[in-house]
Amino acid sequence: MSEKTKAQILKEELMMKERKGAADYKQEDLAKADEFCVEYKKFLDFSRTEREAVVYSVELAKQYGFTEYDNTKTYKAGDKVYIVNRDKAVGFAVIGKNGTKNGVKLAIAHVDSPRIDLKPNPLYEDNNLALFKTHYYGGIKKYQWTTIPLSLHGTVVKLDGTKVDIRLGDDESEPCFCITDLLPHLDREQATKTMNKAFTGEDLNILVGSRPYSDDDDKGLVALNVMSILNEKYGITEDDFLSSELSFVPCYKTRDIGFDRSLIGGYGHDDRCCAYPALMAALNTEMPESTVITYLTDKEETGSDGNTGMQSDFLRYFIYDLAKADGEEGYHVLSKSKCLSADVNAAFDPTFSSAYEPKNASFLNEGVVISKYTGHGGKYDTSDASAEYMAEIRAMLENGGIKWQIGELGKVDIGGGGTIAKYVANMNVDVVDLGVAVLCMHAPFEIISKADIYMAYKAFYALFN
Ligand code: MN
Ligand code: MN
Repeated sequence: MSEKTKAQILKEELMMKERKGAADYKQEDLAKADEFCVEYKKFLDFSRTEREAVVYSVELAKQYGFTEYDNTKTYKAGDKVYIVNRDKAVGFAVIGKNGTKNGVKLAIAHVDSPRIDLKPNPLYEDNNLALFKTHYYGGIKKYQWTTIPLSLHGTVVKLDGTKVDIRLGDDESEPCFCITDLLPHLDREQATKTMNKAFTGEDLNILVGSRPYSDDDDKGLVALNVMSILNEKYGITEDDFLSSELSFVPCYKTRDIGFDRSLIGGYGHDDRCCAYPALMAALNTEMPESTVITYLTDKEETGSDGNTGMQSDFLRYFIYDLAKADGEEGYHVLSKSKCLSADVNAAFDPTFSSAYEPKNASFLNEGVVISKYTGHGGKYDTSDASAEYMAEIRAMLENGGIKWQIGELGKVDIGGGGTIAKYVANMNVDVVDLGVAVLCMHAPFEIISKADIYMAYKAFYALFN
């Protein structure tokens, strides 16, 4: 073997390592990643809305010994509790040996994803077709949501307060739904428009029926027939739409991508591919030093507003309750707490490379992504993690043998985005974004790497333990 030159030795000591993608992983880690993703795919297939993600997470947590939090009870180290916020957000805590005295460890992901919501009064009929008016939720490229099979998910609350949960269209034996688009033969006018004008929000109408209500000679409307079917199946009337949360989401299942099955395609990776590893990190934590909390929040895609979004005081009040039980001041606990804001970043796409700055972009298979800041323009609207906290997290990842990378969202001034990190920072908590790189983010079919999601799990676990 030839000896290394001085330049080679210095290069190893001083310079960053080159990207190697999946070649950098041990076979053992890749095998563990594949195994981890079998369960992740089940979670993603079930969790099409935030409500469904909460149901799945709570059921899973119960199997790991978690019980519903009760602020009148006393808890001891190792106790595991969950707390649900209005069925749309949920916290999972494992009480630490030191409780909240030295602050708590937080991993916070969101379980809402871009989708097509129904308008409060959705049903109409046009030329003997029944359709629903919709109002899209979150940042979508509207054309991507046309001519794909969609399923209906959500909850209707009737006048007497009874709740009806609806899931229709995921199973092949069930009907599904569709937004129509113009055929290419007649799109000469549409094709001259810019992408955001070629398909508008008011064009996102869902086709839901075409046969009239029929009772021998008594013919009624197509819309009436739709309502009659809904009434028979769910006991609801048209007025009940006014108190409902119904969404259309892609109905296809999560699938492996590529001949080597190294990637996963599915709906709602953002941000359930961070929610699931954060959840599993809490579920697999037995006796931490400080109390750990995984919190799965709602409404991130629309700005974290509302009482189930990260700007609400729900999580703060929960931490205050835990602090009070330990005889601590809530705000002291928050001030000593550490958080990983678990959200996705844009993976470099070779087909659209001009949107990325490759030295600071994140890549599939390069491990979990840390984003020091998000925002837009001159670093507006973001929490910029401190150099000190970055060093702490770097050390945690390096010491844990966790593959990681740094990632800005794209080129400076080309666009931007935000996460919940800034709302956590507002509580005087140290926080940085850490998550999984995603291709085609916010599309009805997003792509992530199996190795990366497993590294995210290892990162959250390392924070907690
Ligand atoms: Mn996200
Ligand atoms: Mn998003």
